[in-house]
Amino acid sequence: MDGSDASDESYLDYNATAPVRPEAYAAVCEAMQLVGNASSTHAAGQQAAHRVDVARRQLADLLGCSPGELIFTSGATEANNLALRAAFAPGDPLVTSPAEHPAVLETARAVTAGSPDELVLLPVGVDGLVDLDALSQVFATRRGGLVSLMAANNETGVLTDLRVAAKAAHEADALVHTDATQLIGRLPVDVTELDVDLLSLSAHKFGGPQGAGALFVRRGVPLPHRPLLVGGGQERGWRAGTLNVAGIAGMGAASEAARHSLAEEVERVRALRDRLEHLIAGALPDCRLNGRRDQRLPGVTSITIPGVPADAVLAAMPDVSASEGSACASGAPTPSHVLLAMGLTREDADSTIRFSLGYATTVDEIDHAAQAVKRAVMQVRAALTEAHHPR
Ligand code: PMP
Repeated sequence: MDGSDASDESYLDYNATAPVRPEAYAAVCEAMQLVGNASSTHAAGQQAAHRVDVARRQLADLLGCSPGELIFTSGATEANNLALRAAFAPGDPLVTSPAEHPAVLETARAVTAGSPDELVLLPVGVDGLVDLDALSQVFATRRGGLVSLMAANNETGVLTDLRVAAKAAHEADALVHTDATQLIGRLPVDVTELDVDLLSLSAHKFGGPQGAGALFVRRGVPLPHRPLLVGGGQERGWRAGTLNVAGIAGMGAASEAARHSLAEEVERVRALRDRLEHLIAGALPDCRLNGRRDQRLPGVTSITIPGVPADAVLAAMPDVSASEGSACASGAPTPSHVLLAMGLTREDADSTIRFSLGYATTVDEIDHAAQAVKRAVMQVRAALTEAHHPR
């Protein structure tokens, strides 16, 4: 991926996980040489605690919040679980959408036990946008509760207008949580402008290590103290467990690197994504792009190639890393719940590939992938024709 030669491999699965940024790699290695436990009061422990403080500041700068508003977790799954379990009160509405990541959707189902009085799923349009007008209808007759809507969809990249959602929720005294796992480090963000109360993120989506993440909780948000993990008093009692100093240091370094290069990266990545779509659409005129085109992350495209199973295409181009549906669901034979919620047929959902690009993607990787997709689709179509009309 160094961009020097024509590429013979394309890593286009940043939404599953992004390559570690060099700054994050260096920070992880350096922090692993520290001996202390960040909770210990001796000098070695305080060195580790200092490293955590530096990272907390770096992440806070990326988000535009204060360091004291962050709780470090093992990733976004934990942050989502913590947010929903802490902020949902039985009897109140928990409003979300069927296109959420399972880390929100399954937690929402668990805390409400699926009760239709509590769990409210907003409709999703064919363009992947959540119907935010339906939010006002929910709050026409009720007040309070929690609204949890993802900032950017992991399968389509479609963005939610969080400010509109937050306005409707706050007018009804409801709290707002967003799973911003795919947004942070991909587009510039200021949590004050987003106007959300809780926000989940994960380091490995923006060039930090896997297994590190955070929950932002706006200062003053009235949350009953319901930690997910109890034990020691780490993270102001919100999350017990010895801090993952190296992971947190890596997340901090990735945050700083992303903050400095994001403006330039956004334009570059968007141009590469557009090039990929143009090349694939040129080669496969019947393909369809999913999701609202002008309200998407810059580095994501979801492409349906009707009648051509995505798993067969991906198997025919092992040198291109991309996903069918979401990586978390890969291996499972069920079609993407996101695409089904948008109204795609099961067959079209099964014929959809997600390509996701990021800070280190090169033009050569894009050109290589486009060629590979064309070849793989021709190969799969030939095999399907052969199977239907054996010679
Ligand atoms: N939410 C979204 C939108 C995601 O894409 C992912 C990762 N696939 C997660 C949550 C889970 O993140 P983590 O791997 O940090 O648990």
